[in-house]
Amino acid sequence: LILAGAYMTMRWILRPLKWLTQGVEHVSQGNLDHMVPVKRKGELADLARAFNNMTKQFQKMLHARERLMLDVSHELRSPLTRLKVALEFLPEGAAKESLKEDVGIMETMITEILETARLRNGYATLNLKATDLVPLVQGVVAGFAGASPGVAAGEMPATMPAFVDAELCRTVLKNIIANAVKYSGSSEAPVAVSLFRQAPHVVVEIRDHGAGIPEEDMPYIFEPFYRVEKSRSQTIKGYGLGLNLCKTIMEAHSGRIEIDSSLGEGTTVALFFPEQQEGR
Ligand code: ADP
Repeated sequence: LILAGAYMTMRWILRPLKWLTQGVEHVSQGNLDHMVPVKRKGELADLARAFNNMTKQFQKMLHARERLMLDVSHELRSPLTRLKVALEFLPEGAAKESLKEDVGIMETMITEILETARLRNGYATLNLKATDLVPLVQGVVAGFAGASPGVAAGEMPATMPAFVDAELCRTVLKNIIANAVKYSGSSEAPVAVSLFRQAPHVVVEIRDHGAGIPEEDMPYIFEPFYRVEKSRSQTIKGYGLGLNLCKTIMEAHSGRIEIDSSLGEGTTVALFFPEQQEGR
């Protein structure tokens, strides 16, 4: 009885430590809304309070960073539009083409930042509809005709209904296929796009035989502005915003994106779209 009593008392005393451990796990997984319970007095309660304050400070800092990026992006839209108009009045030539390309890149970046924020903060409503993914995927694949090393639609069923926002679905597919093409050499096997059902999801799989992603970079590739290896990034254009937008779009669909990659061998991206309207 004494041993059982001592065991129970120890467990009771050490409970705040368990709460703190759970708190650390939540925060390390990016859940900054988690607060550690502060129910007693003493040093462990002080530690829990300090932990909660630290999490709140992190949240504030992240929010400020996001706000700054959004405000800057928003403010850049009008001068960029003026720049585009002014560019039309310039005489044709290499300088005009190069400027046009730069303005185009800036416009894509700003659109990606604002679109990600709109979806993440719930300001954008998805235009979810029952959509046949077969013609949609084939349409996107056809848009890459002539790209090296080529994009081929693998085996596909006759129809594959899913509950998606067709426009955003196209955006994700274009981004992922463009990456597969971008990070593959022209002599490598073509990028293969296949479509299959894995209830309750419809999966679009994009497989390439390109450069692959080093294992140590895998945890960060969805972070905004994260790019693998400086040497590779210098030769291939990009800003590290594409995968961040794709992940946000997939999560807004209550779906997910999974990436499997081995360095030097290739990358497989699986996009899980919901098959049916939620709750049915
Ligand atoms: P970027 O504009 O740099 O392509 P993304 O957000 O689309 O940005 O991708 C982030 C990083 O992930 C890229 O810089 C690239 O190094 C890596 N990556 C993404 N897709 C692939 C792929 N199919 N093969 C190899 N590396 C990839």
